[in-house]
This record gives sequence, structure tokens and C-alpha cells, in this order.
Amino acid sequence: MIRENMEQVQRKIDAACRKAGRESSEVTLIAVSKTKPIEMLKEAYEAGARDFGENKVQELMEKIPAMPKDIRWHMIGHLQRNKVKYIIDKVYLIHSVDSLRLAEEISKEAVKHDLTANILVEVNVAGEESKFGTSLQEAEKLVLAIAKLPGICVKGLMTIAPFVENGEDNRKYFQNMKQLSVDILHKNNDNINVGQVLSMGMTGDYTVAVEEGATYVRVGTGIFGERDYKKES
Ligand SMILES: *Cc1c(COP(=O)(O)O)cnc(C)c1O
Repeated sequence: MIRENMEQVQRKIDAACRKAGRESSEVTLIAVSKTKPIEMLKEAYEAGARDFGENKVQELMEKIPAMPKDIRWHMIGHLQRNKVKYIIDKVYLIHSVDSLRLAEEISKEAVKHDLTANILVEVNVAGEESKFGTSLQEAEKLVLAIAKLPGICVKGLMTIAPFVENGEDNRKYFQNMKQLSVDILHKNNDNINVGQVLSMGMTGDYTVAVEEGATYVRVGTGIFGERDYKKES
């Protein structure tokens, strides 16, 4: 089932790319495996998945050693400063950097480990009370401040759009994110290097996100099925 789901999601990504005049190679599908058992992750791996997304440090620490070494692990959940040290040298990209204080901690740990941490700045694009992320208005300032820190490379932006029945309702937010990314690129004149990665789109809205410029889509339910949070300890 997981293989069929992945193939179907990939076909829809390819179709959205064609519609938007983009290359499929511009978009990477992240299999969001949070709450799912290792057997299911292995099934996804067998079907070709190499990018996995998790939202909890504890779960990452358990799953990383149980899976093949060539996986790119994406930290997509809210990250506490005191947990940065556990994942700094284990994850490929941290999607959820929402404050200068968190970025400073990542910078400190990266320098200590003699590595460059790749991060995205999380933007609360719809200004939802319940969500983490910097506001659309503050985002550029935060990106430029973080980009000056040693040991950090700001690859781009991430957002979690509102939960909607119809993904089309989030199109305007994805357009806002794309515009922000372009604005930052153009203002980015003091030798600051900020990338153009856009992590946006989940099961309910990833085709719309791809049409509007997503370079990563994060799909959980559409690959692994519904999550059962009651089973969590
Ligand atoms: C859970 C989660 C996803 C995947 O959500 P689905 O709707 O199951 O595809 C994507 N991004 C983040 C940050 C998540 O926490």
C-alpha cells in the first residue's frame, strides 16, 4: 500500500509540475513518518523514499539508528533549544527555525561540531494563533539576522498552511511565501547567502503548493495513512 501511495503522490506532483511549467526534479517529496513504526518506514525506503520527516527529537533518535545510513532526515517539528545538541549532526535540514534564540543555539552547536547546519525559517503565513513561526512581516528581518550567524546556512523558508478541506483555499498563502522568497533574494545584497528552498504543502494541499513553487512537500497521511495519536505513550 505504501508503495502505491508514494507512486500516486509522485504522479500528482509530476502533474502539478507540468501544469506550472516546472521540472519534477525541482520538487522533493518528504515522507512524513511521525508516529509510524519502523516497519512502515522500511517499506517506504524499499519503495524509494530517501527523505523522511519527523517532528520529535526523541522519535528521531530512535528511528535514525534503526534505518539505513543514506536517508536524509528532516526535522519538521517545533525544536526546543535544549534539544538541538542531540540532532545537530544527525539531520540533513531543520525546517522549523522560528526565532533568533533558537538559531543562535543551532549556530553554537554547529560550530562546536565543526559543521554547517542547514535550516529553513518557519513562517506562520496565515497568522494562526495555534502555530509556531515568525510573521510574514518579520520574516525577512529574521532571515537576514540568522544568515549572519556562523555555522548556519539559511536554505530558505517553510510554512504549515491552515488545515482546510479544500487545498485550493491555501493557494494565496503559498503565493505569499513564494513572493517573500523572491523579495528576500532581491534584497539580499550584503553578501548574505540565503537559498530559495520552499518547504510547503502537506497531504491536503501539496499539489497547489507545487503549482505555486514548493521545492519540498511534506506528506504523511497520503503515504502512510491516518495517524493514531491514541497509541502514543
Ligand atoms: C505531520 C506534518 C506533516 C504531514 O501532514 P499530513 O497532513 O499527514 O501530510 C507535514 N508537515 C509538518 C510540519 C507536520 O507536522
